[in-house]
Amino acid sequence: EHPIHVVGGGLAGSESAWQLAQAGLTVILHEMRPGRQTPAHHSDGLAELVCSNSLRSDDADHNAVGLLHEEMRRAGSLILAAADACKVPAGGALAVDRDAFSAHVQAALVDHPNVTILREEVAGLPPAEWEQVIVATGPLTSAPLAEALATLTGVDSLSFFDAIAPIVVRESIDFSKAWFQSRYDKGDGSDYINCPLSREQYDAFIDGLLAGETVPFHDWEKDTPYFEGCLPIEVMASRGRGTLSFGPMKPVGLTDPNGPKPYAVVQLRQDNALATLYNMVGFQTKLRHGEQVRLFRTIPGLENAEFARLGGLHRNTFVNGPRVLNPDLRLKAGPRFRLAGQITGCEGYVESAAIGLLAGCFAAAEARKRELPPPPLTTALGALLGHVTGGAMAETFQPMNVTFGLFPPPPERDENGRRVKGRERKKLYSIRARNDIAPWLESLELLRA
Ligand code: FAD
Repeated sequence: EHPIHVVGGGLAGSESAWQLAQAGLTVILHEMRPGRQTPAHHSDGLAELVCSNSLRSDDADHNAVGLLHEEMRRAGSLILAAADACKVPAGGALAVDRDAFSAHVQAALVDHPNVTILREEVAGLPPAEWEQVIVATGPLTSAPLAEALATLTGVDSLSFFDAIAPIVVRESIDFSKAWFQSRYDKGDGSDYINCPLSREQYDAFIDGLLAGETVPFHDWEKDTPYFEGCLPIEVMASRGRGTLSFGPMKPVGLTDPNGPKPYAVVQLRQDNALATLYNMVGFQTKLRHGEQVRLFRTIPGLENAEFARLGGLHRNTFVNGPRVLNPDLRLKAGPRFRLAGQITGCEGYVESAAIGLLAGCFAAAEARKRELPPPPLTTALGALLGHVTGGAMAETFQPMNVTFGLFPPPPERDENGRRVKGRERKKLYSIRARNDIAPWLESLELLRA
């Protein structure tokens, strides 16, 4: 039986290696640190948390990442077991002692009889003799491997930087002010949502943008230039007050059915196949998150907007998942490779580990010649996997954290016809997910048996 190679011993690679080893397969884990460091890692430990020590909310009843924790625990995740063992008090969040956490993950893998750890960089496409490979090299994948992946997937399908426009949950938009229409009525009428601004509202918005505090670039990000095509809106605004009204906020080709001709328009474009999420077109930004929420809620129609993610601009290596990945995370252009972690276009420690878990399980099923279907879309694991392998629109694909916006919405009314809202509605997502994950977990048990 051939060994399965996992490249990258971060959150995703450690979890993939664990899942494979627990399924009885032989694993070789290749990690380039400490011989070669990334600009963000400081230690030589596996599963190093590069920034915050929080794995975010642990509330499985009302929060999608909490639900993801719960599903991962039930699936036998090493990352969640390590987090639970190394927990520090943090209210409703799952925060950890980062050194103990990394040491726990490392010890579990070092001690596992099926795992060999090699401290070496995989500098280019892995050799043809490696029949099954999981690439989990993260947002800061070393250059020779990133370049090899770009050649394999096509350069347009691998990004080195993300320029993220905020994404809004459609249900939270006020349609007494906003309306559906494509510019010049091209395409499908439901592709775009428009929010109108008067001259006064536009001026106030520009003042807010120019006064807003931005997040500085890390030193190692500074030499990555802006692409003129995706300048942050605050940089565009600083080039002249009218720049945005002639750029992404131009009002041409649109007719507000609810009022006078707007001076400027914010357009939101459908972001996922379920049409639950819409991105603010051209609104990539480095404004601080609090400032974004405050300022974007001054836009008519977005007063109560719920943001599935906020804007940002960072160094980040990731593929266009919906274009290049199969539903089981294999690369269409090279099926001996699976991707895992942030490089697939998910975002966050927990999400990266979750995709690592799935990649490990799918690779184990393939090696064992067994069937393992993807988890249902109504579960946190399934919704996240669905996002990176096809649910998101390939043209505007950007990395995402897990949120309930990625799930098919549950019914708005209960069996008595009563509208279920807010926290109560969130709970409906969790209840449905708990039911729907059960058969998938049974398939996983069979795979390990
Ligand atoms: P990583 O954890 O980065 O693991 C990849 C591993 O692959 C690394 O150990 C690396 O050394 C190794 N590697 C790379 N190239 C090669 C190669 N060619 N050969 C062998 N090994 C290689 N997410 C959060 O949830 N909270 C945060 O606070 C947060 N802060 C972040 C801060 C920064 C600066 C960055 C860049 C990202 C941050 N993220 C954060 C996002 C992200 O979730 C984490 O980066 C997460 O660690 C990604 O997991 P991963 O397993 O995909 O990659």
